[in-house]
Amino acid sequence: MDYLLRRLLGKGLSEALFSIQNAQYVFRLMLVNMILIVVTFVMLGFAVLHLFYTHDFQLLAASSIAAFILSSVLIYLRRSQNLVLSGHLATIAIVVFFPIFAQINQNNQFGLIWLLVTPFLAISFNGFKIGLRYIAVYLGIILSVAYLNIGVWEHGNWTELSFLRLLIGLLVFTALATVMDVANDHLNKRIQNQHRKEDVYLTELKRLSTTDGLTSLYNRHHFNEVLAQKVQALKDSDLYLTFFILDIDHFKLYNDHFGHQKGDTALQAVAHAVRLYMKRENDLVFRLGGEEFGGLLVSDKPQEMGAWLAQLPQAVYSLHIPHAPEAQAQYLTISIGIFSAKVNDLNSINCLYRIADKALYQAKHQGRNQAVITP
Ligand code: GH3
Ligand code: MG
Ligand code: MG
Repeated sequence: MDYLLRRLLGKGLSEALFSIQNAQYVFRLMLVNMILIVVTFVMLGFAVLHLFYTHDFQLLAASSIAAFILSSVLIYLRRSQNLVLSGHLATIAIVVFFPIFAQINQNNQFGLIWLLVTPFLAISFNGFKIGLRYIAVYLGIILSVAYLNIGVWEHGNWTELSFLRLLIGLLVFTALATVMDVANDHLNKRIQNQHRKEDVYLTELKRLSTTDGLTSLYNRHHFNEVLAQKVQALKDSDLYLTFFILDIDHFKLYNDHFGHQKGDTALQAVAHAVRLYMKRENDLVFRLGGEEFGGLLVSDKPQEMGAWLAQLPQAVYSLHIPHAPEAQAQYLTISIGIFSAKVNDLNSINCLYRIADKALYQAKHQGRNQAVITP
C-alpha cells in the first residue's frame, strides 16, 4: 500500500503525506496530483478515440495538446511541489481548452457535458477564492460562445433552453465545489486548532511530569532520566560529571518551630538560591526529595567545579533565613557532598549517588554548614 501511494503521488508528496505537518496543503497537493493524472488520461483517451474512431482531427489535435500541457504541469508539480503555480497553469489550460473543445464539438453526442467539471477543477486546483475568479472568466467565455451558437450547435438543435440548462448546470457545480472547499477549509482549520491545543497540553504535561510542584526545580524522576542520558552522552569523552547532594540542616527543627507552611517557603527560598547560584546554562538542579537537592554539571575542570560548589553553604547562609532557636546555627544552613568523575571510571550510575551521599553524610558528621568534596 505504501509502495502504491509512493508511486502514485511521487516521492516528495508521499514524504509530505507520511509526515503530516500541514494537512490542508498536503490534501490539496494530493487532490491536484490525482486530478491531473485522471484528466491527462481522459485527454489521452479522447485523443485515441478521435484518432481511431471519429477521425475528427481538430478534436484529436485539441485533446493531444491538452494532454501534453496537463502532463507537463503534472511533471512540474511532482518535481517542484509548487502547488500554487501548478494550480494556475492547470486551470488556465482547462479554461482555455474547454471552450475550444466546445466550439469544435458543438455538443454533438453530449460532448459539452465535460464543461461541467471545470468549476470543480478550478476550485480544487486553487481553492475557492482564486478558483471562483477563474470560473468567472470561464463562464464569461463559455456562455458567450454557447449563446452565440444558439441555433448552430447540435446540427441547429442547440436552443435557448439548452443554453439555460448549461448555465444552470455550471452554476450548480460551481456552488457544489465552493461548498465542498469551504467545508474542507473549515474542517482543516479545526483539525489544526486541535493539533495546536494538543501540542500545548503535551508541553504542559511534560513540564508537570518533570518538575517539582513546590520549588519548580526538576524532580527526581527527571533526574534519573537525565543522569542516564548524560552518562550515555559522555561515554568515551574526557569530560567530567560533577554531582552533588545538598540537604538542609536540622530542617525538622525548623518545621517543628515555624510550622510546615513556613517550612515550605524556606524550601522554596533555598531552591531559588541554589538555582541562581548555578548560572551556567547546562547545569541542572533537582529536588531529589524532602529537603534534599541534587545537581549535575559537566566540565573539564572538576577541581574548579568542586571549589565553586563548596561555597554553596555560604550562599545559602547569606540568605539569613532565621533558624529555630534549638538549631546550632542562627540562620538556615545546608550541608553538601560533591563528587566528580569521568563517566568511564564509574562502576555504575548508582555509585555516583552513593559516593556523593557519603560525602554529604561526612559533612553532616563534621558539624554541618559545610561541603565535602570526594575524591
Ligand atoms: P539533618 O541536618 O540531619 O538533615 O536534620 P534534618 O532535621 O534536616 O533531617 P530529617 O531528615 O530528620 O528531617 C527532614 C525534615 O524535612 C522532615 C520533614 O518535616 C521536612 N520536610 C521534608 N519535606 C518537606 C516539605 O515538602 N515541606 C516541609 N515544610 N518540610 C519538609
Ligand atoms: Mg536535613
Ligand atoms: Mg534529609
